[in-house]
Amino acid sequence: MYRSHPNVSEGRCKKGPDTWGLVSEHCSGRSQSPVNIVTRRALQDERLTPLHLTGYQETFHSLIMNTGHGVKLDLSSKMRIQGGNLPATYKTIQLHLHWGKDGGLGSEHLIDGEQFPMEMHIVHIKEKYDSLSEAVTDRTGVAVLGFFFQTNMTKYFRYEGSLTTPDCAEAVVWTVFEDTIPLSRKQLTAFSQLQFSDGKPMVRTYRPVQPMNERPVYYSRGHVASVSTMLLILAALVPSALSLHTTA
Ligand SMILES: [Zn+2]
Repeated sequence: MYRSHPNVSEGRCKKGPDTWGLVSEHCSGRSQSPVNIVTRRALQDERLTPLHLTGYQETFHSLIMNTGHGVKLDLSSKMRIQGGNLPATYKTIQLHLHWGKDGGLGSEHLIDGEQFPMEMHIVHIKEKYDSLSEAVTDRTGVAVLGFFFQTNMTKYFRYEGSLTTPDCAEAVVWTVFEDTIPLSRKQLTAFSQLQFSDGKPMVRTYRPVQPMNERPVYYSRGHVASVSTMLLILAALVPSALSLHTTA
């Protein structure tokens, strides 16, 4: 996931992820994201009950923005997530996407070494905070839901990690869903038409996986399956994202 800070975007566009340690010391930390999730090492955790999502069914007005270093959609903070052993209630702030080149692979997280074409991040902060910059001062200040472009909200992995762009703050409770959301190659290829602020093609907008460093990954049992209204919203969001109403 990224932060839309001007200096940060310079770091992202001009220098590759291998030099981010120079941009911010956090980027060389011990709890960085994304990671390769090894499913046979993930610990079954009864506390990882289905997430409760509220406010996701409300309509909202927002534009997909080409920020110059990625594509994002600001979301209403009326949307809340809780449960699933999250330490607090979190409110939504934005959604963004990571992809590869010309419809190739481009997810940030890997599952058993497998990379997927695209990964969507829905970024939330604890209710008590007003901004992402305030939330990153708290080790669990940020909660990100990561989806690989389906509908099973009960099977997911959990680990503690970081923002995936500078300053890479280690303040994120990561929830990565096992199921994938179907996406055509044509839809995906459309993303490669976008450009970074320096005019270069906006391709490979993902950070390579980072060392796990003894961090446990937990896996939900996949309790009783429930159809979520959120997924209906996502199904509506993705096609609108792909029509690419860019504003910058
Ligand atoms: Zn992201």
